[in-house]
Amino acid sequence: MTDQTSELLYMRAKLRLPGGVNSPVRAYQAVGRTPRFIQSAKGSHITDVDGNEMIDYVCSWGPGILGHADSRVIEKVKAACEEGLTFGAPTEREVEMAELLAQLVPSMEVSRLVSSGTEATMSAIRVARGYTKRDKIIKFRGCYHGHSDGLLVKAGSAALTTSVPDSAGVPADFTRHTLVAEYNSPDSVKALFEAYPDEIAAIIVEPVAANMGVVPPADGFLEFLREITKHYGALFIFDEVITGFRLALGGAQEYFHITPDLSTFGKIIGGGMPVGAYGGREDIMRMVSPDGPVYQAGTLSGNPIATAAGLATLRILEADTDIYMRLQENTAMLADAVRHAAGNRVHVNQIGSLMSIFFTGEDVTDYDSATTADTKAYADYFGFMLDHGIYVAPSQFESMFVSDAHTDADIQKTIHVMQEYFAE
Ligand SMILES: *Cc1c(COP(=O)(O)O)cnc(C)c1O
Repeated sequence: MTDQTSELLYMRAKLRLPGGVNSPVRAYQAVGRTPRFIQSAKGSHITDVDGNEMIDYVCSWGPGILGHADSRVIEKVKAACEEGLTFGAPTEREVEMAELLAQLVPSMEVSRLVSSGTEATMSAIRVARGYTKRDKIIKFRGCYHGHSDGLLVKAGSAALTTSVPDSAGVPADFTRHTLVAEYNSPDSVKALFEAYPDEIAAIIVEPVAANMGVVPPADGFLEFLREITKHYGALFIFDEVITGFRLALGGAQEYFHITPDLSTFGKIIGGGMPVGAYGGREDIMRMVSPDGPVYQAGTLSGNPIATAAGLATLRILEADTDIYMRLQENTAMLADAVRHAAGNRVHVNQIGSLMSIFFTGEDVTDYDSATTADTKAYADYFGFMLDHGIYVAPSQFESMFVSDAHTDADIQKTIHVMQEYFAE
């Protein structure tokens, strides 16, 4: 324990870090509280520097599917550290990782390791453009694919023709080729292909949207995207940075029986260390340097410590065939309890170990319905949960993540606090 408190650390942090944080959502701006500075975490529990021990449903935004500091993973990381932190030269574990990926996710015939989800999506899009020799891409409103320039867009006033940067510092020219469609709306995609039949390199999608809160795909939506991309000679990219190894061992593509051309991974694949990967069909991936003309590189890519953590995590998931059933059951129990306690004051979306409680009476099926949620009501709920030892996302538009370290007692305690909140 340090003698610091979150209040004091936050005051110091704000002087030297924008918003006092290194990634915006951590600043708790959406919920009007002081962020908790974390001391340590083990299993399903996270402890802040103030000495509060909480049940954690953020799980570092997804990587922590086994819970925190799993001893089997930590052991492998320690052993890897003893052998050296980085060499900038190929190592055996990178080969093992690419082989395991191809085995667990058959569409990943050839892959390239990177160090974040942002790099994975940015690079996959570059490959898709290089392969198709086309410039435009389609993304969906409310889907997040990291913070590269071309992906920080929102629809302009004439959505069919213009996208505008969604961040200062992104030149309008850099988002000119990013077309924005509506999640779960085949018509919006059709219209873009009809307007630009020979110019669209790829569609990128979160197969389960999880960055506008959790919004599962409507029946037939992913199949439709698979068909229309094929029809127009565009590639289909699954951004599985959240869904990979979480919805199923083979990700959303196994869960929904869809084969994308390219996929991107992050979060769980690093087991808590910075790793990302992109890959897919061999003929497409041979475009990547040094086999082909699409340049992409990384000093720390395939880092020996990060691949040790990632491989250990994936091997544990692979060996435990019941894990996805347990995660689904525990998360469904939480979802049912909230629906029962809150009635039509909220709409709960849940699929596998992903879940969102939207503070709206409407069904949430896309970006428009997600944003009907009352963020002030969410902030109130968040504060109550935090004060009662339950650590959930400090934003209405993030997922709850359930890990395999969450015990029956954790789930029951969480349900009890939720019931208490909604009874008031
Ligand atoms: C988190 C996330 C990313 C970006 O990953 P980083 O490692 O944060 O760069 C990309 N796509 C999706 C779907 C994500 O949830």
